[in-house]
Amino acid sequence: MWPGMLDDKTERLHGLIGSVRFVLFDFDGPLCRLFAGRSAEGVAKAQVRWLESRGLRGLLTADLREDPDPFVVLRAVDRRLPGSDLSAELEAMLTRHEVSAVASAWPTPYADPLIRTWTAVGARLAITSNNAPEAVSRYLASRGLMDCFAPHIYGRCTRNLALLKPDPHCVRRALTAMGADPKSTLLIGDAPSDFLAARRAGVGFLGYARNDRKAGLLHDAGAGHLVSSLEPVLRAVVSAARARKSGPTEFSWGP
Ligand SMILES: [Mg+2]
Repeated sequence: MWPGMLDDKTERLHGLIGSVRFVLFDFDGPLCRLFAGRSAEGVAKAQVRWLESRGLRGLLTADLREDPDPFVVLRAVDRRLPGSDLSAELEAMLTRHEVSAVASAWPTPYADPLIRTWTAVGARLAITSNNAPEAVSRYLASRGLMDCFAPHIYGRCTRNLALLKPDPHCVRRALTAMGADPKSTLLIGDAPSDFLAARRAGVGFLGYARNDRKAGLLHDAGAGHLVSSLEPVLRAVVSAARARKSGPTEFSWGP
């Protein structure tokens, strides 16, 4: 087990959850696996083929052409040609892939009941994501979760890709719009870029790592609080609500 891994018997998890009033969720990972029914790597390869078909193979190094992450490819092109029509087209292509992936996305176990429970006990929730807001909204609507978040959905700023996490832009937008104190705010994310954005914005961070590889990346980035499932988080939320005597007394949950 990684050193920062917490379960619902861990005091630190209860300490982290007990003082939280605002929760910012990263989307792909903590809420669902967006490309579960297909492959994010397939999207990255499609981006590379698209660039090659325009004679722009040289824009990416050999390593980047093999990178399985569509965001890495998009960022790399935007760094070379910031604000260009080319990076805008590549971004629009990623948006189309994300929106069409919603239909085959897999919900993260315990995410839906966690969101509903946290809302029921009075926390205010937002999405802070590098994904297209349209894809996020479609997914939330398909799960009946829109009311738990709207209007606080802060996705990719399509005109300025330099503002993707790890830049704290979307986190700060959420804090400002919700009037949230960073000290009572927790961001739940599954990537080092989430941890770095949270740290730069001064909010707490809980890493969700569905496998060892993700846990290792978060741990190496410096994230000190990790869970491998959202179930202990749900239990901690219920137990914090009971301790405050303000929450419902009966909960049932399942994946
Ligand atoms: Mg993520």
